[in-house]
Amino acid sequence: MQNLGVIDGKTELIGLFATPIRHSLSPTMHNLAFKKLGLNYAYMAFEVGNEELADVIKGMKALNIRGFNVSMPNKTKILPFLDELDDSAKLTGSVNTVVNENGRFIGHNTDGRGYIRNLKEHGFDIRGKKMTLIGSGGAATSIAIQSAVEGIAEISIFARQDEFYSKAVENARIINEEIKQFSVKANVYPLENKEQLKKEIASSDILTNATGVGMKPLEGLSVIDDPQVLRPDLIVTDVIYSPPKSKLLQQAEAVGATAINGLGMMLWQGALAFEMWTGQQMPVEYIQEKMFRDTGTGTAAQFEMIKS
Ligand code: NAD
Repeated sequence: MQNLGVIDGKTELIGLFATPIRHSLSPTMHNLAFKKLGLNYAYMAFEVGNEELADVIKGMKALNIRGFNVSMPNKTKILPFLDELDDSAKLTGSVNTVVNENGRFIGHNTDGRGYIRNLKEHGFDIRGKKMTLIGSGGAATSIAIQSAVEGIAEISIFARQDEFYSKAVENARIINEEIKQFSVKANVYPLENKEQLKKEIASSDILTNATGVGMKPLEGLSVIDDPQVLRPDLIVTDVIYSPPKSKLLQQAEAVGATAINGLGMMLWQGALAFEMWTGQQMPVEYIQEKMFRDTGTGTAAQFEMIKS
């Protein structure tokens, strides 16, 4: 409780409903930001799975809570309980942020926007570029859809032929048929097709890992078998930030490519939610200093990665 500041009769609650959730950085991040800006909110994490979700949403409506985040396993299951979805939630079929607008719960998905905002912070503009994207789960879907919405020219999705493969096909269909803002082409290939992977990376500006390969229990592994497919002018990004340098990012750095981990995506998806709840911008630099530089712990290395 030490980071919550002073709670009084006017304090508004922001929740986080997921399970497991005790490892999450979000409560620390949001409460530090509320305190820094003198905003009278408190952000609390609650262990909530699919079974509890209906009761929790009903309770939050009754309490007229300002908003909340949801994470796994609730990102898709929450949809039927919401009053409205924004385009990011509709196109991805998942929600990570809910905002209470005059008693109506509106669902948003800020993961993809957070990913792209982080790239912008690193000086990279996705418009007109080509991406090779590995994965088709929740994180990959948000990245693929938002990249298309924000003007990427081509995206080649590689997915393992497991239960997620049909989602890769569906994501490509949505991008090719439903996103009209820009001209964008999406392709889908099995991750097992290494020759095609090599070919697509060779013509891409950016390579993105959006699978859990590289973090526990798959730490030390990479989605890339042959690091020679990487090159110095490639931007290589990973959704993983623990460890701060996944095997893929180590491979990228070894050939002189730009390597960006998932911490910035996490920070910016939170900053975008924060703005929707409070109407104010999250003091992101302050959060980076407080959470990732001043700690004197292993997380300092994560800070160095997002600044690099
Ligand atoms: P998910 O379960 O929805 O999807 C997992 C994806 O990984 C699927 O495409 C699956 O086919 C693929 N996959 C799993 N094991 C694989 C293997 N051995 N080889 C190849 N592909 C494999 O999970 P998710 O919610 O999309 O999360 C994926 C990763 O993204 C996790 O590590 C999660 O922590 C991270 N994540 C990071 C952020 C962030 O803000 N940085 C946000 C969301 C998720």
